Amino acid sequence: MCKFFCRAVSAAALLVMCLSMLVMGQGSVEAAEKSPVHELNYFKSYETEIQGAKAFRIEIGMDKDNLDYQVIPKTFLHKQLVLDMKSTKPGKLKKNIKLNNSLVKRLTISELERRHTQVVIELGKNVTEDMYSVHVEKADHKAGKPYRLVVDIFAEPQGGTDENFKGVKGRTIVIDPGHGGSDSGAVGPTGLAEKTATLAVSKKVKTLLEASGARVVMTRDRDVDVYGRNATDRQELQARVNVGEFTPGANIFVSIHCNAFSNPEAKGMETYYFPGSARGEQLATSIYNELLKDGGLAGRGVRTANFYVIKHSSMPATLLELAFITNPREEALLGDDKYQTTLAKAIARGISRYFGE
Ligand SMILES: [Zn+2]
Repeated sequence: MCKFFCRAVSAAALLVMCLSMLVMGQGSVEAAEKSPVHELNYFKSYETEIQGAKAFRIEIGMDKDNLDYQVIPKTFLHKQLVLDMKSTKPGKLKKNIKLNNSLVKRLTISELERRHTQVVIELGKNVTEDMYSVHVEKADHKAGKPYRLVVDIFAEPQGGTDENFKGVKGRTIVIDPGHGGSDSGAVGPTGLAEKTATLAVSKKVKTLLEASGARVVMTRDRDVDVYGRNATDRQELQARVNVGEFTPGANIFVSIHCNAFSNPEAKGMETYYFPGSARGEQLATSIYNELLKDGGLAGRGVRTANFYVIKHSSMPATLLELAFITNPREEALLGDDKYQTTLAKAIARGISRYFGE
């Protein structure tokens, strides 16, 4: 989300300015990614039902929501799902937890090297990508639950493009793919442009929502400037706002961007709303929760900022930063068609939840 400040400056300066913009917004960039050490001291597992699907859930407690983890599926050869956790010690948990469920046999927890822990989940059968999900849940102090890494293993594949996003039927949704045309937005280390990734995801969101009966209006549906080539930044951004403002009955405005930072290790996703907008906050939160659950990237939170398009939209509005395009791993994901679909589904589901399903 760089446009308003950075159009005419060099790429290097652009990153710095994006940082300063974010800092002006909310002090939101992790200035230095500190790595506090987590200890795994909480464990719970149970059979459950998630949106009508039979599943087995594993909850592993951690100290805060900033766990640096990676899910490594070794499902094909070994029937294993491996959770790789940096800056984490095994804590008080048993090193070998037998579960003997049809979906999950056991967990083994080991410290590979100092403060680097792996949890190996032995599955009852091979699972495909759409048969498990991993996400972070906030602490629930009343229920005595700390922050948790939650792993759901489903009995059946959960995929399929025929998902019905309830609640969106009859709604008018404005999708704003960030940047475009003469403005490429941020550019990743191998050259993926933000404008390309945001458009790809936005088009998928549109297809999904329309299949569930929504009316979707895009600020752009191809690689163009919305106002025109020689517009000022304000003209260009206002042109995007105007698409929403002049669309009769438009219910929400969703602007889709990728984050950028000079340090290639900066990572994760976040969503924004304009301070004081309760409906904007609900929308940003609803989409954030789904992106976090399905996208699998580090969660940087639901934040406020004075970004032009969310400030000047009269309807509930949110701006999404899907991932850091300057992070090589996240750039690869942003350019991956399957992952774009995962993100699009999460956004559509978040919108569906916002409208009350
Ligand atoms: Zn952007």
